[in-house]
Amino acid sequence: MQDSQSSQQLSQAIAIASPLPRKSRQARVVWRNNVVTVGGDAPVRVQSMTNTDTVDAVETAIQVRQLAQAGSEMVRITVNTPEAAAAVPYIREQLDRMGEYVPLVGDFHYNGHRLLTDYPDCAQALSKYRINPGNVGKGDKKDKQFGQMIEIAAKYDKAVRIGVNWGSLDQEIMADLMDQNSRREKPWETRQVMYEALITSAISSAELARNIGLNPDNIILSCKVSGVQDLISVYRELARRCDYALHLGLTEAGMGTKGTVASTAALSVLLQEGIGDTIRVSLTPQPGEARTQEVVVASEILQALGLRVFVPSVTACPGCGRTTSTTFQELAKKIDDFLRGEMPVWRTQFPGVEAMKVAVMGCIVNGPGESKHADIGISLPGNGEAPAAPVFIDGEKALTLRGEHIAEEFQTLVLEYVQRRYGQKA
Ligand code: SF4
Repeated sequence: MQDSQSSQQLSQAIAIASPLPRKSRQARVVWRNNVVTVGGDAPVRVQSMTNTDTVDAVETAIQVRQLAQAGSEMVRITVNTPEAAAAVPYIREQLDRMGEYVPLVGDFHYNGHRLLTDYPDCAQALSKYRINPGNVGKGDKKDKQFGQMIEIAAKYDKAVRIGVNWGSLDQEIMADLMDQNSRREKPWETRQVMYEALITSAISSAELARNIGLNPDNIILSCKVSGVQDLISVYRELARRCDYALHLGLTEAGMGTKGTVASTAALSVLLQEGIGDTIRVSLTPQPGEARTQEVVVASEILQALGLRVFVPSVTACPGCGRTTSTTFQELAKKIDDFLRGEMPVWRTQFPGVEAMKVAVMGCIVNGPGESKHADIGISLPGNGEAPAAPVFIDGEKALTLRGEHIAEEFQTLVLEYVQRRYGQKA
Protein backbone atom coordinates (compact mmCIF):
# COMPACT_ATOMS: atom_id res chain seq x y z
CA MET A 1 0.00 0.00 0.00
CA GLN A 2 2.79 2.34 0.99
CA ASP A 3 4.74 1.42 -2.15
CA SER A 4 1.85 2.21 -4.48
CA GLN A 5 1.29 5.54 -2.68
CA SER A 6 4.91 6.60 -3.07
CA SER A 7 5.05 5.56 -6.75
CA GLN A 8 1.83 7.53 -7.32
CA GLN A 9 3.40 10.55 -5.65
CA LEU A 10 6.53 10.19 -7.75
CA SER A 11 4.58 9.99 -11.00
CA GLN A 12 3.12 13.46 -10.39
CA ALA A 13 5.45 16.38 -9.80
CA ILE A 14 4.41 19.02 -7.29
CA ALA A 15 2.94 22.01 -9.08
CA ILE A 16 5.13 25.12 -9.08
CA ALA A 17 3.20 28.05 -7.62
CA SER A 18 3.17 31.26 -9.63
CA PRO A 19 0.94 34.34 -9.90
CA LEU A 20 -1.96 33.97 -12.34
CA PRO A 21 -1.69 36.03 -15.53
CA ARG A 22 -3.34 39.45 -15.54
CA LYS A 23 -6.02 40.21 -18.13
CA SER A 24 -6.43 43.97 -18.07
CA ARG A 25 -6.20 46.53 -20.85
CA GLN A 26 -2.90 48.29 -21.25
CA ALA A 27 -2.58 52.00 -20.44
CA ARG A 28 0.42 54.17 -21.34
CA VAL A 29 1.84 56.81 -19.02
CA VAL A 30 4.35 58.85 -20.96
CA TRP A 31 6.93 61.54 -20.45
CA ARG A 32 9.24 62.23 -23.38
CA ASN A 33 11.00 58.99 -24.33
CA ASN A 34 9.95 57.24 -21.12
CA VAL A 35 6.83 55.18 -21.85
CA VAL A 36 5.53 53.38 -18.77
CA THR A 37 2.99 50.77 -19.82
CA VAL A 38 0.47 49.73 -17.16
CA GLY A 39 -1.67 46.61 -17.41
CA GLY A 40 -1.87 43.87 -20.02
CA ASP A 41 1.44 42.07 -20.24
CA ALA A 42 3.42 44.98 -18.77
CA PRO A 43 5.25 44.33 -15.51
CA VAL A 44 3.39 45.34 -12.34
CA ARG A 45 4.53 48.93 -11.78
CA VAL A 46 5.68 50.62 -8.59
CA GLN A 47 4.28 54.03 -7.74
CA SER A 48 4.86 56.43 -4.88
CA MET A 49 3.79 59.86 -3.70
CA THR A 50 5.75 62.84 -2.42
CA ASN A 51 5.07 64.46 0.95
CA THR A 52 6.68 67.80 0.15
CA ASP A 53 4.77 71.03 -0.39
CA THR A 54 4.35 71.04 -4.18
CA VAL A 55 4.73 74.83 -4.15
CA ASP A 56 8.37 74.23 -3.22
CA ALA A 57 9.38 73.10 -6.70
CA VAL A 58 13.02 72.40 -5.85
CA GLU A 59 12.34 70.31 -2.76
CA THR A 60 9.59 68.41 -4.58
CA ALA A 61 11.80 67.73 -7.62
CA ILE A 62 14.53 66.41 -5.31
CA GLN A 63 12.12 64.04 -3.58
CA VAL A 64 10.61 62.88 -6.87
CA ARG A 65 14.12 62.07 -8.07
CA GLN A 66 14.91 60.16 -4.85
CA LEU A 67 11.74 58.11 -5.23
CA ALA A 68 12.48 57.44 -8.91
CA GLN A 69 16.06 56.42 -8.13
CA ALA A 70 14.74 54.04 -5.47
CA GLY A 71 12.66 52.35 -8.19
CA SER A 72 9.36 54.26 -8.39
CA GLU A 73 8.20 54.21 -12.00
CA MET A 74 5.61 56.99 -11.58
CA VAL A 75 5.49 59.61 -8.85
CA ARG A 76 2.33 61.37 -7.69
CA ILE A 77 2.35 64.91 -6.40
CA THR A 78 -0.39 66.88 -4.69
CA VAL A 79 -1.94 69.60 -6.85
CA ASN A 80 -4.26 71.37 -4.45
CA THR A 81 -3.89 75.12 -4.98
CA PRO A 82 -3.22 77.59 -7.83
CA GLU A 83 0.33 77.97 -6.47
CA ALA A 84 0.87 74.21 -6.56
CA ALA A 85 -0.50 74.02 -10.12
CA ALA A 86 1.81 76.86 -11.14
CA ALA A 87 4.80 75.00 -9.64
CA VAL A 88 4.19 71.75 -11.56
CA PRO A 89 5.84 72.83 -14.86
CA TYR A 90 8.91 74.01 -12.89
CA ILE A 91 9.13 70.67 -11.09
CA ARG A 92 8.96 68.93 -14.45
CA GLU A 93 11.62 71.25 -15.86
CA GLN A 94 13.99 70.58 -12.95
CA LEU A 95 13.58 66.84 -13.39
CA ASP A 96 14.14 67.02 -17.14
CA ARG A 97 17.27 69.06 -16.54
CA MET A 98 18.54 66.26 -14.27
CA GLY A 99 17.71 63.69 -16.98
CA GLU A 100 14.97 62.20 -14.79
CA TYR A 101 12.01 61.42 -17.02
CA VAL A 102 9.84 59.65 -14.45
CA PRO A 103 6.19 60.47 -15.26
CA LEU A 104 4.46 62.80 -12.80
CA VAL A 105 0.91 62.12 -11.66
CA GLY A 106 -1.21 65.02 -10.38
CA ASP A 107 -3.45 64.31 -7.40
CA PHE A 108 -6.64 66.40 -7.65
CA HIS A 109 -9.51 66.88 -5.23
CA TYR A 110 -12.35 69.47 -5.11
CA ASN A 111 -10.81 72.09 -7.44
CA GLY A 112 -9.05 69.95 -10.08
CA HIS A 113 -11.41 71.16 -12.83
CA ARG A 114 -10.42 74.77 -12.17
CA LEU A 115 -6.69 74.09 -11.74
CA LEU A 116 -6.42 72.03 -14.93
CA THR A 117 -8.37 74.67 -16.87
CA ASP A 118 -6.54 77.70 -15.47
CA TYR A 119 -3.04 76.15 -15.63
CA PRO A 120 -2.65 74.45 -19.02
CA ASP A 121 1.12 74.14 -18.55
CA CYS A 122 0.41 72.08 -15.43
CA ALA A 123 -2.08 69.95 -17.35
CA GLN A 124 0.54 69.25 -20.02
CA ALA A 125 3.50 68.70 -17.67
CA LEU A 126 1.64 65.94 -15.85
CA SER A 127 1.56 62.51 -17.47
CA LYS A 128 -1.48 61.26 -15.60
CA TYR A 129 -4.27 62.73 -13.51
CA ARG A 130 -5.64 61.07 -10.40
CA ILE A 131 -9.28 62.02 -10.01
CA ASN A 132 -11.32 61.00 -6.97
CA PRO A 133 -15.00 60.85 -8.03
CA GLY A 134 -16.04 61.31 -4.40
CA ASN A 135 -14.34 64.70 -4.29
CA VAL A 136 -15.25 66.37 -7.58
CA GLY A 137 -18.37 68.21 -6.47
CA LYS A 138 -21.90 67.59 -5.32
CA GLY A 139 -25.27 67.41 -7.11
CA ASP A 140 -25.34 68.92 -10.61
CA LYS A 141 -21.75 70.04 -10.33
CA LYS A 142 -20.38 66.52 -9.89
CA ASP A 143 -20.63 65.26 -13.47
CA LYS A 144 -19.91 68.70 -14.94
CA GLN A 145 -16.66 69.18 -13.01
CA PHE A 146 -15.59 65.57 -13.54
CA GLY A 147 -16.31 66.05 -17.24
CA GLN A 148 -14.17 69.18 -17.41
CA MET A 149 -11.15 67.24 -16.12
CA ILE A 150 -11.78 64.33 -18.46
CA GLU A 151 -12.06 66.66 -21.47
CA ILE A 152 -8.65 68.11 -20.63
CA ALA A 153 -7.18 64.61 -20.22
CA ALA A 154 -8.63 63.60 -23.60
CA LYS A 155 -7.34 66.80 -25.22
CA TYR A 156 -3.75 66.17 -24.06
CA ASP A 157 -4.01 62.37 -24.36
CA LYS A 158 -3.23 61.83 -20.66
CA ALA A 159 -3.89 58.72 -18.63
CA VAL A 160 -6.40 59.08 -15.78
CA ARG A 161 -6.67 57.08 -12.61
CA ILE A 162 -10.19 57.14 -11.32
CA GLY A 163 -9.27 56.62 -7.70
CA VAL A 164 -12.11 55.87 -5.32
CA ASN A 165 -11.36 55.83 -1.60
CA TRP A 166 -13.67 54.66 1.13
CA GLY A 167 -12.73 57.72 3.21
CA SER A 168 -14.20 60.00 0.56
CA LEU A 169 -16.79 57.72 -1.01
CA ASP A 170 -19.48 59.36 -3.14
CA GLN A 171 -22.21 59.78 -0.53
CA GLU A 172 -25.00 60.02 -3.09
CA ILE A 173 -24.15 56.55 -4.45
CA MET A 174 -23.82 55.16 -0.92
CA ALA A 175 -27.18 56.63 0.17
CA ASP A 176 -28.90 55.27 -2.92
CA LEU A 177 -27.47 51.77 -2.39
CA MET A 178 -28.36 51.83 1.33
CA ASP A 179 -31.88 52.75 0.34
CA GLN A 180 -32.06 49.83 -2.12
CA ASN A 181 -30.58 47.56 0.55
CA SER A 182 -33.24 48.46 3.07
CA ARG A 183 -35.85 47.10 0.63
CA ARG A 184 -34.11 43.73 0.28
CA GLU A 185 -35.75 40.76 1.86
CA LYS A 186 -32.42 39.87 3.38
CA PRO A 187 -30.39 43.11 3.58
CA TRP A 188 -26.64 42.93 2.99
CA GLU A 189 -24.18 43.90 5.69
CA THR A 190 -23.30 47.59 5.60
CA ARG A 191 -19.79 46.84 4.50
CA GLN A 192 -21.07 44.81 1.55
CA VAL A 193 -23.08 47.86 0.52
CA MET A 194 -19.91 49.90 0.88
CA TYR A 195 -18.03 47.49 -1.42
CA GLU A 196 -20.79 47.88 -3.98
CA ALA A 197 -20.69 51.67 -3.67
CA LEU A 198 -16.91 51.76 -4.21
CA ILE A 199 -17.10 49.59 -7.32
CA THR A 200 -20.18 51.37 -8.70
CA SER A 201 -18.49 54.75 -8.25
CA ALA A 202 -15.32 53.61 -10.07
CA ILE A 203 -17.01 51.83 -12.96
CA SER A 204 -19.77 54.39 -13.56
CA SER A 205 -17.17 57.18 -13.55
CA ALA A 206 -15.10 55.24 -16.09
CA GLU A 207 -18.16 54.82 -18.31
CA LEU A 208 -18.88 58.53 -18.06
CA ALA A 209 -15.26 59.32 -18.96
CA ARG A 210 -15.49 57.09 -22.04
CA ASN A 211 -18.75 58.75 -23.09
CA ILE A 212 -17.05 62.13 -22.83
CA GLY A 213 -14.30 60.93 -25.15
CA LEU A 214 -11.48 59.51 -23.03
CA ASN A 215 -9.76 56.56 -24.65
CA PRO A 216 -10.63 53.50 -22.49
CA ASP A 217 -6.98 52.46 -22.70
CA ASN A 218 -6.12 55.65 -20.81
CA ILE A 219 -8.23 54.64 -17.81
CA ILE A 220 -6.86 53.03 -14.65
CA LEU A 221 -9.12 52.29 -11.69
CA SER A 222 -8.56 51.96 -7.97
CA CYS A 223 -10.88 51.35 -4.99
CA LYS A 224 -8.83 51.80 -1.87
CA VAL A 225 -9.84 50.74 1.63
CA SER A 226 -7.75 50.27 4.77
CA GLY A 227 -8.79 46.75 5.79
CA VAL A 228 -6.94 43.79 4.31
CA GLN A 229 -9.98 41.53 3.82
CA ASP A 230 -12.06 44.47 2.56
CA LEU A 231 -9.43 45.27 -0.07
CA ILE A 232 -9.31 41.66 -1.24
CA SER A 233 -13.13 41.48 -1.46
CA VAL A 234 -13.44 44.74 -3.39
CA TYR A 235 -10.67 44.10 -5.91
CA ARG A 236 -11.74 40.54 -6.67
CA GLU A 237 -15.14 41.88 -7.67
CA LEU A 238 -13.77 44.96 -9.43
CA ALA A 239 -11.47 42.75 -11.55
CA ARG A 240 -14.41 40.47 -12.36
CA ARG A 241 -16.58 43.36 -13.55
CA CYS A 242 -14.16 45.32 -15.73
CA ASP A 243 -10.99 45.01 -17.78
CA TYR A 244 -9.38 48.38 -16.96
CA ALA A 245 -5.85 48.36 -15.57
CA LEU A 246 -6.06 48.38 -11.76
CA HIS A 247 -3.97 50.32 -9.28
CA LEU A 248 -3.66 48.48 -5.94
CA GLY A 249 -2.96 49.85 -2.53
CA LEU A 250 -4.09 49.56 1.03
CA THR A 251 -4.96 53.13 1.93
CA GLU A 252 -3.64 54.56 5.21
CA ALA A 253 -1.68 51.35 5.81
CA GLY A 254 0.02 52.84 8.86
CA MET A 255 3.57 52.89 10.13
CA GLY A 256 6.55 50.57 10.12
CA THR A 257 5.94 46.89 10.65
CA LYS A 258 2.15 47.19 10.80
CA GLY A 259 1.89 49.13 7.54
CA THR A 260 4.41 46.92 5.80
CA VAL A 261 2.81 43.65 6.87
CA ALA A 262 -0.78 44.76 6.20
CA SER A 263 0.12 46.03 2.71
CA THR A 264 2.09 42.90 1.92
CA ALA A 265 -0.71 40.62 3.11
CA ALA A 266 -3.38 42.37 1.05
CA LEU A 267 -1.39 42.98 -2.10
CA SER A 268 0.17 39.51 -2.19
CA VAL A 269 -3.16 37.71 -2.20
CA LEU A 270 -4.46 39.85 -5.07
CA LEU A 271 -1.26 39.84 -7.12
CA GLN A 272 -1.08 36.06 -6.82
CA GLU A 273 -4.60 35.93 -8.30
CA GLY A 274 -3.51 38.07 -11.26
CA ILE A 275 -5.20 41.21 -9.95
CA GLY A 276 -3.34 44.52 -9.93
CA ASP A 277 -1.23 46.32 -12.53
CA THR A 278 0.39 49.04 -10.43
CA ILE A 279 0.92 49.21 -6.68
CA ARG A 280 1.62 51.78 -4.03
CA VAL A 281 2.42 51.08 -0.39
CA SER A 282 0.92 53.94 1.63
CA LEU A 283 3.31 53.86 4.59
CA THR A 284 3.32 56.59 7.19
CA PRO A 285 7.03 57.40 7.49
CA GLN A 286 8.42 56.90 11.00
CA PRO A 287 10.22 59.96 12.37
CA GLY A 288 13.47 60.28 10.44
CA GLU A 289 12.57 57.54 7.98
CA ALA A 290 13.19 58.19 4.29
CA ARG A 291 10.15 58.62 2.06
CA THR A 292 11.74 56.08 -0.25
CA GLN A 293 10.89 53.31 2.25
CA GLU A 294 7.47 52.90 0.60
CA VAL A 295 9.22 52.20 -2.71
CA VAL A 296 11.54 49.69 -1.05
CA VAL A 297 8.56 47.81 0.43
CA ALA A 298 6.57 47.86 -2.83
CA SER A 299 9.57 46.57 -4.78
CA GLU A 300 10.23 43.86 -2.21
CA ILE A 301 6.62 42.64 -2.42
CA LEU A 302 6.89 42.24 -6.19
CA GLN A 303 10.34 40.70 -5.96
CA ALA A 304 9.30 38.25 -3.23
CA LEU A 305 6.37 37.08 -5.37
CA GLY A 306 8.69 36.59 -8.33
CA LEU A 307 6.86 39.24 -10.36
CA ARG A 308 9.76 41.66 -10.75
CA VAL A 309 13.46 41.85 -9.99
CA PHE A 310 14.75 45.22 -8.81
CA VAL A 311 17.81 44.73 -6.61
CA PRO A 312 20.20 41.87 -5.86
CA SER A 313 18.80 39.87 -2.95
CA VAL A 314 20.73 39.26 0.25
CA THR A 315 19.94 35.97 1.97
CA ALA A 316 20.85 36.23 5.64
CA CYS A 317 20.10 33.84 8.47
CA PRO A 318 18.25 35.08 11.55
CA GLY A 319 21.09 34.12 13.90
CA CYS A 320 20.68 31.93 16.95
CA GLY A 321 22.59 30.65 19.96
CA ARG A 322 25.30 29.30 17.67
CA THR A 323 26.44 32.83 16.87
CA THR A 324 26.20 35.41 19.61
CA SER A 325 28.23 38.05 17.77
CA THR A 326 26.44 40.69 15.71
CA THR A 327 29.14 40.62 13.02
CA PHE A 328 27.00 38.81 10.47
CA GLN A 329 24.01 41.11 11.09
CA GLU A 330 26.23 44.13 10.52
CA LEU A 331 27.75 42.56 7.43
CA ALA A 332 24.33 41.65 6.00
CA LYS A 333 23.11 45.23 6.54
CA LYS A 334 26.27 46.71 5.10
CA ILE A 335 26.08 44.56 1.96
CA ASP A 336 22.35 45.27 1.55
CA ASP A 337 22.93 49.04 1.86
CA PHE A 338 25.88 48.82 -0.52
CA LEU A 339 23.87 46.98 -3.19
CA ARG A 340 20.89 49.35 -2.92
CA GLY A 341 23.13 52.40 -2.97
CA GLU A 342 24.92 51.22 -6.12
CA MET A 343 21.81 50.12 -8.04
CA PRO A 344 20.91 53.50 -9.64
CA VAL A 345 24.31 53.37 -11.44
CA TRP A 346 24.62 49.57 -11.76
CA ARG A 347 21.19 49.34 -13.43
CA THR A 348 22.64 50.81 -16.63
CA GLN A 349 26.28 49.83 -16.13
CA PHE A 350 25.77 46.16 -15.28
CA PRO A 351 22.59 44.84 -16.96
CA GLY A 352 21.19 41.77 -15.20
CA VAL A 353 22.88 42.53 -11.87
CA GLU A 354 19.48 42.94 -10.19
CA ALA A 355 19.04 39.15 -10.33
CA MET A 356 22.26 38.48 -8.39
CA LYS A 357 21.95 36.54 -5.12
CA VAL A 358 24.25 37.20 -2.17
CA ALA A 359 24.30 35.15 1.05
CA VAL A 360 25.58 36.28 4.44
CA MET A 361 25.31 33.46 6.97
CA GLY A 362 26.09 33.17 10.65
CA CYS A 363 27.68 29.72 11.07
CA ILE A 364 28.65 26.42 9.55
CA VAL A 365 25.21 24.75 9.97
CA ASN A 366 23.51 26.33 6.94
CA GLY A 367 26.22 28.80 5.96
CA PRO A 368 28.16 26.85 3.32
CA GLY A 369 24.99 25.29 1.84
CA GLU A 370 23.13 28.58 1.52
CA SER A 371 26.26 30.33 0.25
CA LYS A 372 26.66 27.71 -2.47
CA HIS A 373 23.09 28.41 -3.66
CA ALA A 374 23.93 32.12 -3.99
CA ASP A 375 26.08 33.72 -6.71
CA ILE A 376 28.43 34.87 -3.99
CA GLY A 377 28.14 34.06 -0.31
CA ILE A 378 30.05 34.11 2.93
CA SER A 379 29.71 31.89 5.98
CA LEU A 380 30.91 33.65 9.10
CA PRO A 381 32.29 31.73 12.08
CA GLY A 382 29.82 30.81 14.82
CA ASN A 383 30.69 30.31 18.49
CA GLY A 384 33.58 27.92 18.92
CA GLU A 385 34.31 27.72 15.18
CA ALA A 386 37.71 28.61 13.73
CA PRO A 387 37.86 32.39 13.10
CA ALA A 388 37.67 31.99 9.36
CA ALA A 389 34.97 32.93 6.83
CA PRO A 390 34.85 30.83 3.66
CA VAL A 391 33.59 32.67 0.58
CA PHE A 392 31.71 30.77 -2.12
CA ILE A 393 31.53 32.06 -5.68
CA ASP A 394 29.25 30.41 -8.26
CA GLY A 395 28.76 27.44 -5.94
CA GLU A 396 32.44 26.76 -5.28
CA LYS A 397 34.57 27.64 -2.28
CA ALA A 398 36.84 30.38 -3.65
CA LEU A 399 38.81 31.62 -0.65
CA THR A 400 38.73 32.18 3.11
CA LEU A 401 38.72 35.59 4.77
CA ARG A 402 40.25 36.17 8.22
CA GLY A 403 40.96 39.04 10.55
CA GLU A 404 39.55 42.48 11.26
CA HIS A 405 38.48 43.56 7.78
CA ILE A 406 36.26 40.73 6.61
CA ALA A 407 33.36 43.12 5.85
CA GLU A 408 35.39 45.44 3.63
CA GLU A 409 37.12 42.55 1.88
CA PHE A 410 33.84 40.77 1.18
CA GLN A 411 32.34 44.00 -0.22
CA THR A 412 35.33 44.29 -2.57
CA LEU A 413 34.82 40.69 -3.67
CA VAL A 414 31.13 41.43 -4.40
CA LEU A 415 32.08 44.47 -6.48
CA GLU A 416 34.69 42.51 -8.42
CA TYR A 417 32.16 39.74 -9.02
CA VAL A 418 29.62 42.25 -10.38
CA GLN A 419 32.19 43.84 -12.70
CA ARG A 420 33.39 40.49 -13.95
CA ARG A 421 30.00 38.88 -14.45
CA TYR A 422 27.76 41.76 -15.51
CA GLY A 423 30.23 44.23 -17.06
CA GLN A 424 29.63 44.99 -20.74
CA LYS A 425 31.77 42.81 -22.91
CA ALA A 426 33.73 44.88 -25.42
S1 SF4 B 1 23.17 29.50 9.94
FE1 SF4 B 1 23.97 29.06 12.00
S2 SF4 B 1 23.81 31.01 13.08
FE2 SF4 B 1 22.49 31.19 11.31
S3 SF4 B 1 20.50 30.59 12.12
FE3 SF4 B 1 21.42 28.76 11.17
S4 SF4 B 1 22.40 27.72 12.89
FE4 SF4 B 1 21.98 29.82 13.58
